[in-house]
Amino acid sequence: HHFAPAVEALENEGAYAMMARAADIAKTPGPLVMHLEIGQPSYPTPPHIVAAAVASLSDGETKYSPPAGIPALRSAIAAHVSSTRGVDVHPEQVVVGPGAKPGLLLALLALVRAPGDVVIIPDPGFPSYAAAVTLAGGVPVRVPVGPGGFDAAELRRVALGACGRCVAIVVNSPGNPTGCVIDRAGCEAIAAVATEADAFVVSDEIYSGLVYEGKPGDAPFTSMLSLPGMVSRTVLVDGFSKTFSMTGWRLGYAVCPPYLADRMALLLVHSVGCTATFVQRGGVAALTSLANGEDAALQGMRTDYRRRRDAVVAGLNAIEGVTADVPGGAFYAWADVRAYGELGFTSAELAALLLEEGRVAVLPGTDFGPGGEGYLRLSYVGEDEEVLEGVARIKSVLDRLR
Ligand code: PLP
Repeated sequence: HHFAPAVEALENEGAYAMMARAADIAKTPGPLVMHLEIGQPSYPTPPHIVAAAVASLSDGETKYSPPAGIPALRSAIAAHVSSTRGVDVHPEQVVVGPGAKPGLLLALLALVRAPGDVVIIPDPGFPSYAAAVTLAGGVPVRVPVGPGGFDAAELRRVALGACGRCVAIVVNSPGNPTGCVIDRAGCEAIAAVATEADAFVVSDEIYSGLVYEGKPGDAPFTSMLSLPGMVSRTVLVDGFSKTFSMTGWRLGYAVCPPYLADRMALLLVHSVGCTATFVQRGGVAALTSLANGEDAALQGMRTDYRRRRDAVVAGLNAIEGVTADVPGGAFYAWADVRAYGELGFTSAELAALLLEEGRVAVLPGTDFGPGGEGYLRLSYVGEDEEVLEGVARIKSVLDRLR
């Protein structure tokens, strides 16, 4: 059967494919498989959030609700984004959807005006960016991204070289897969290029609640929305999956200029209809307790992640031929294994070997774009024992290759 080219071009997200391969390996005799491939917190959702959703269902909130979100949640998100990004956000700028992913897709569907419009995406970067741009009829152009943000010269060259057809730049900080937090100067450079090219910035800030450096009260990371002049050209995408351990609830949002929010709401009307009301009530409870300073559960998770991050990075740097920087956010370590590339192994081959011989699942960097060659992504959301055993197995497999 033939589909539209954009649908034919779709590929599975690497993490799902690796999970399936890990499940197959797990059926063969041998020790338990260590899972360092999944970007999903292992914690249960905090109980007050669950209770709010249960109460909503018991109260009979089982009908359709407003497509852009229930007023209580849009207001809570507007207040949350105003306080965390330091700009005035109003509820009519907020569009609620079932996850951050729909926010990304719908924003790009709205922003790509004509087939062939260019959208810049980070390389390496989250696989859904290229897919969403392609589905929207645009052309994803990868620009290398590192600890300081995009390669500035390349960003300018692509954005301005598109002759007015670069409609958006996708930014992801803290980033998947590297865990890098782009510093203020890096964000300002992106804002300057977006302004010069008259492009939007689609800023995926799904990991903004998982930033480890900086003292309390410091601005731990820079939101693109907070930079001067950027409110009118930014679509901030965020959600509840990572920070509140709510991946399966499907709840996220976009914040953008009201004229764009209205269009995204129409896209919701004709696609998902609306987001489940009881799920949204969970979101209201999450943000309300956070605003009241009742965030012990979240702080506990962050403390655990930070400890695991430090242990994983130390463990990786103790392996011959492997280096890893300390990532400032998210829950991924980005292991530089280019020394093994020189021995003839691609990162995909290394990931396959690690799974088959070490029974440890990690993702090859190339799952996130060609710029990921020579790297492996390790997720440190598992328990301490799993994460440490995973790194120990990586060491024993890699040591045998030298
Ligand atoms: N954006 C990035 C960078 C991610 O890593 C993920 C999940 O892995 C998402 C978005 C998806 O978030 P959600 O569960 O809210 O759709």
